[in-house]
Amino acid sequence: MIGVSFMRPNPLLAVNQLKTYFYLDQKKIAKAVDGVSFTVQPGETVAIVGESGSGKSITALSIMKLIEKPGEIVEGTITLNQQDLTNLSAKQMTKLRGNEIAMVFQEPMTALNPVFTIGNQLTETLRKHRSMTKQEAQLEAINLLKTVGISRADEIIHEYPHQLSGGMRQRVMIAMAISCHPKLLIADEPTTALDVTIQAQILDLMVEMKEELDMALLLITHDLGIVSEYADRVLVMYGGQIVEEAPTRELLRTTKHPYTKGLLESLPNLKEDVDRLGTIKGTVPPAYDLPTGCRFYTRCPFAMEKCKHSNPDLIEITNNHVVRCYLYEKEEMQSVESNT
Ligand code: SF4
Repeated sequence: MIGVSFMRPNPLLAVNQLKTYFYLDQKKIAKAVDGVSFTVQPGETVAIVGESGSGKSITALSIMKLIEKPGEIVEGTITLNQQDLTNLSAKQMTKLRGNEIAMVFQEPMTALNPVFTIGNQLTETLRKHRSMTKQEAQLEAINLLKTVGISRADEIIHEYPHQLSGGMRQRVMIAMAISCHPKLLIADEPTTALDVTIQAQILDLMVEMKEELDMALLLITHDLGIVSEYADRVLVMYGGQIVEEAPTRELLRTTKHPYTKGLLESLPNLKEDVDRLGTIKGTVPPAYDLPTGCRFYTRCPFAMEKCKHSNPDLIEITNNHVVRCYLYEKEEMQSVESNT
């Protein structure tokens, strides 16, 4: 079936053949997301991995319907709890964000309003989405801050974002994100801007909250080390497409795509037996100038003549592992996603 990479039954989130393009100057079209399909089950942690420019953050923003001009979702469906988000109005989407789906960004300073106190921002969300009185919202804000590990919660609510450390701000963002008990939390590089020692604390906190509130987590990251520790399933993106998808353990144990192998190579202790590739040469091609054949062709040490001319389909090599690469044609069980 076309474009149904592991479209498992009863998903919480189903993204099907999503295409998000940016219409740039001089008639250039940046195909930032180009035919992406996947599901997230209730309570599951799915990671989308790739370098900067691979399309992972645009996939997350598309799900939140936060794509701004000159970008737009040009094709595909995004279904949350069987509700098609692509058809929702801006007003309906605003209501849904926070209530059913929430996002934590890489740099909380961009998401927090610098002129309002932490208390103002939390209570506004609670009053808007949970219809609380001012007093109820104030008490709940303190509770939420305590829940995310902020000990001076009754003082912090009177402070402004710039008075807090990066780690504290990210805890506040998590408190805001979980305040309305969403079913899906999307975290886009949530720890990249933080010190190494704080990173693990924030990721552990998100997993703790996920379990406590029975949420699913969609984790966007460039770091396969984080993935190995936190994700149930991994999607590897390159050039706006999924190039490999598998449960985390399977992906790490039987890595297939040359790009995934290259990413793993930067984590020498994570996987000892992966073919040694060295650092991946070159950079991700711009989304407005993708190679005509396989999008990894210009960087792939295994590239063949046919890779230059046509882009491989995703092929299913076991019943829970797909890869987009001609090296595995003989291992193919069946084609599951057409080339776009
Ligand atoms: Fe490399 Fe060819 Fe596979 Fe693309 S299809 S990843 S160029 S071997």
